[in-house]
Amino acid sequence: MTNNNSFQGVLDRLEAVNKHLNLPPAIYNRLRSPRRSLIVSLPVRMDNGEVKCFEGYRVHYNTARGPAKGGIRYHQNVTLNEIITLAALMTWKCAIVDLPFGGAKGGVACDTTKMSRDEIKRMTRRYTHEIAMFIGPESDILAPDMYTDEQIMAWIMDTYSTIKGYSVPGVVTGKPVCLGGSLGRKTATSHGLVTVLLEAVKHLGLSYKDLAVSIIGFGNVGATAADILHEKGMRIVGLADSKAAIYNAKGLDIKSVKRYKADKKSLAGFKDAEQVSLNELVGLKCDILIPAAMEGQINSKNAKNVKARIVAEGANDPTTREADAILNDKGVFVLPDILANAGGVVVSYFEWVQDIQRYFWHEDEIQKRLENIMVKAFKHVLTIAQDKKVDMRTAAMILGVGRVAEASAVRGLYP
Ligand code: NAD
Repeated sequence: MTNNNSFQGVLDRLEAVNKHLNLPPAIYNRLRSPRRSLIVSLPVRMDNGEVKCFEGYRVHYNTARGPAKGGIRYHQNVTLNEIITLAALMTWKCAIVDLPFGGAKGGVACDTTKMSRDEIKRMTRRYTHEIAMFIGPESDILAPDMYTDEQIMAWIMDTYSTIKGYSVPGVVTGKPVCLGGSLGRKTATSHGLVTVLLEAVKHLGLSYKDLAVSIIGFGNVGATAADILHEKGMRIVGLADSKAAIYNAKGLDIKSVKRYKADKKSLAGFKDAEQVSLNELVGLKCDILIPAAMEGQINSKNAKNVKARIVAEGANDPTTREADAILNDKGVFVLPDILANAGGVVVSYFEWVQDIQRYFWHEDEIQKRLENIMVKAFKHVLTIAQDKKVDMRTAAMILGVGRVAEASAVRGLYP
């Protein structure tokens, strides 16, 4: 379910958080709108010779703490409102894990499942060309998001470098390692998610062996999280992709689900599980629920049925405001997106640092640094939640928005 005005949710949450922060009106008002939004039209020659026009966006929500940073999404429901929402979330997220970045997001309204790889390549190159004046390692660094992958990041890097006349690996993260990508980037979001999830499990006094997990989304974030949690001895009981949802209380064999998905391109028809609807899956028994697909998938219709003790938001903005209130009333421990899925941007930051220095780190060093940052952020947010007696999302926003506001105040107003 895509919310047509998801940005209103950002504004509502900002207003709620300002009750704790009491920001000066000038700073608060500035945080309520994006700094810059670019809309581009992309004529692309399709394989049949026709020229189709796609609409693309790139938004810099806030740059008080550093260059704008955020992913690129290719999806038929992409709108400017959604991209502004995601850019705002990136702003708070980068501040929560204390990275020297502001927040950005981009996207193109397109259905890549109906496009050839060559068409996607031509559209990506045209998109990069149209936003080239807006991006760069010093100003705005791109990354993957839904339906964009490391090959697409390679085309962005190549197009931008061609315009500049020299190699600029630092304009985009999530690239292949052979182009200056970082070891550990592909799995970073899920590793970060699991790190904070295990901290939450410890905090709630649960034993993580044999906890049952349901995951919505079986792409980069969802499938990698399933792998790691399975290895840690948890039971993955429920999974969903864009076409189907499956459930097996005894636990799914993740390797055979992956083989099946690779072969059939969908979870539909996987035989060692019950086929259920997405709404049913949300309400089926599990200890941990991980939304790792689209916005608004936990909403007022299904939140009351959630049985999980923990909801760990791998996806951005997966829980509507109404659902958030319902989950809080039920005592569900919600690990908010701006904390839970920050591992991706943390390792993106490492990639950018390595690209700028042209000096690359070992994977174990990357994992160790990632875990340290995630654990530190979790503990900081938990302390705020306990001190102020608020939920983890409000606490995370108090930390993130507070840091952005502090940087804005110190920089002052120009002219
Ligand atoms: P992806 O394209 O690799 O995978 C998306 C998955 O969601 C696919 O399995 C797809 O089938 C499924 N899906 C799509 N529509 C669905 C629907 N209506 N119902 C159920 N499943 C559906 O994307 P990803 O990179 O894994 O991103 C997933 C989420 O995580 C997004 O919200 C993204 O913004 C967020 N996120 C990603 C990263 C990252 O590093 N990739 C970092 C932070 C946050």
